[in-house]
Amino acid sequence: MKQTPDDKRIEINLQPGTLSADGFLGNDSRDVQSIIRADQAVVDQLGLTHELIAERLKQLTEMGKEGLGAPVHSGPLEITVEDFRGRIFCPFRDRAFFGKRVTVCKDQTSGQSIRWSDLNVHMIEKHGFYEGQGSPFRVDPILVHQICFQ
Ligand SMILES: [Zn+2]
Repeated sequence: MKQTPDDKRIEINLQPGTLSADGFLGNDSRDVQSIIRADQAVVDQLGLTHELIAERLKQLTEMGKEGLGAPVHSGPLEITVEDFRGRIFCPFRDRAFFGKRVTVCKDQTSGQSIRWSDLNVHMIEKHGFYEGQGSPFRVDPILVHQICFQ
């Protein structure tokens, strides 16, 4: 597929050191469109949508915010929300930007945990992007399904 100048800039934004020190692709060798397509297939298979996943993550962040940095419990889930200084722009060049808030959600039964930033929720909802394999902020839809949709 032919890349537009805008695609090229998005690709640069996704690399380490442009918008985030770690970048958004991890050690994934696929291009962003292939990553998005593969996760779309997984989300379809799980019977979910990007919107449903984003809504659930937002709901858990809202719940966790009430702890003001201390963990909040909901069923088997332990949710902790932490705010960090600074803000980050969406790499997809839509001028959206977010505070560096991180939600950690742990399933106390299985011991599994997953974390996401407010930017992750936006990228899932608007761009169907969960980040590349090995990226520190990849939000694996299978893990989301296991932990957050029980
Ligand atoms: Zn965006």
